[in-house]
Amino acid sequence: MSPQKNWQAIAEGVDTPKELLIDGAWVLPVAGERMDVISPIDGHVIASVSLGAEEDVDRAVSSGRAAFEDGRWSRLAPSQRKATLIGWADLIESHRDELAVLQTLEMGKPADESWAVDLRSVGNTIRWYGEAIDKIVDEIPHTEPNSLALVTREPSGVVGAIVPWNFPLTMAAWKLGPALAAGCSVVLKPAEQSPLSALLLAQLALEAGIPDGVFNVVNGMGARVGSALAGHPDVDVLAFTGSTAVGRSIMEASARSNLKRVWLELGGKSANIIFEDADVDTAAKTAAWSIFYNQGEMCTAGSRLLVHRSIHDRVRDRVLEIASQMQPQNPLTPGAPAGALVSATHLSRVHSMVEHARGQGEALLTGGAPVLGDTGGSYYPPTVFDNVSPDAFIAQHEVFGPVLSITAFDTEEQAIQIANSTAYGLASAVWTTDLSRAHRVSRELKVGVVWVNCYEEGDMTLPFGGVKLSGFGRDKSLHALDKFMDMKSTWIQL
Ligand code: NAD
Repeated sequence: MSPQKNWQAIAEGVDTPKELLIDGAWVLPVAGERMDVISPIDGHVIASVSLGAEEDVDRAVSSGRAAFEDGRWSRLAPSQRKATLIGWADLIESHRDELAVLQTLEMGKPADESWAVDLRSVGNTIRWYGEAIDKIVDEIPHTEPNSLALVTREPSGVVGAIVPWNFPLTMAAWKLGPALAAGCSVVLKPAEQSPLSALLLAQLALEAGIPDGVFNVVNGMGARVGSALAGHPDVDVLAFTGSTAVGRSIMEASARSNLKRVWLELGGKSANIIFEDADVDTAAKTAAWSIFYNQGEMCTAGSRLLVHRSIHDRVRDRVLEIASQMQPQNPLTPGAPAGALVSATHLSRVHSMVEHARGQGEALLTGGAPVLGDTGGSYYPPTVFDNVSPDAFIAQHEVFGPVLSITAFDTEEQAIQIANSTAYGLASAVWTTDLSRAHRVSRELKVGVVWVNCYEEGDMTLPFGGVKLSGFGRDKSLHALDKFMDMKSTWIQL
């Protein structure tokens, strides 16, 4: 829980760099362009930041390459990288209020949650990889007596990291932690909606002693800075979190350039399955939370609630009760259960999908139109459709907003079939008190993450990522280090 804080006062006092971070210095973009960052809380301009372009990506990649090749970070003993990363985690924790409020100002989530959830995970992530890196070991396979075989792992080189706005710092930390621990250099491109928190995070990295050029930040538009990174001939690894459409374009850019290794964490349409033998009250409350939390702007949002027909009405009524309690407010208000959607553009996208579903005859139980319009902000209430056919538009497409589809099922086989019936495969949850059913259904779900009798639980030891159109590769856990290290086999004839 976050302590009661005066977020408004913290917001008024917060400051962060506004330029690009290249080779350890805050610099202006070559073309001198700038961009206003607009708060979805009330539509006001929070700051004007430098807007990078292709030539700035070139400068950042060159500085990352030079740092990598001279070994100022890549060839440090792991224990030295560890000390710096842990120092950075300490600074993140001591600047937790400012980082939390910047995220809220730029993308609209409740400041309490930004502080309690996001900022806890950012510091933890950097600390965890710092702690891990001097404890991993390479391999010596058993080979014939007159030979010695070594399987070693080496940092891959320059990493491009492109992240979205929904968990701006957590998504950045999930890339930066393992990439920097491994010894790589990184060029981070934050989402254009949320550059400010990333810039403060980078300033703290400099203060912690991450050497010049090892961590660069280039703000800018996806179609310019993001695609320049994806197509850059001197970027070795591209780690991306975002939409499936952009993920596809990144793979194409890799194929057309240098076949850089690409890791994609993409969209989702997660099924939350409640069987008749579940703890129905807890399951229904959690189901509502799983889609309305973070305004539904979650890749793992439980946007499809599959419920056994015999308990459908009970679950539906409980979900509606929680929905009425999770109405959006100004996210700087302590205790706000939900805040603003990231932008006016996203608000209209979410609303047009809801309108489309209504046009197709879907039964709207609550929500369905923007609220708090007089604030100048982008607010959308919890919205619930009932009796949605599994193949309906609203059950198949990611909305990325607080919009739930409820579908009743009759048998376990049917629940599994519906759960697996979208193009995505990120996450799913199963609610049952039958242990065998929990295992049986978990095995059949075509997803990267399954929760049983909970939602969104886990810690840093658990890999995170999807299958199918939700992408491939895993964030978190020791497995994430493999994304940023190349395996080398050495055979020594004795
Ligand atoms: P997006 O794909 O539009 O943008 C994500 C990032 O990609 C931004 O930094 C953006 O500037 C950049 N980008 C845009 N066009 C680009 C291009 N042509 N080349 C390179 N980069 C480009 O996604 P969004 O709307 O910001 O975020 C929402 C999406 O992210 C949803 O689909 C959501 O499910 C997904 N997401 C996935 C995870 C996960 O871990 N699987 C986590 C969070 C969000």
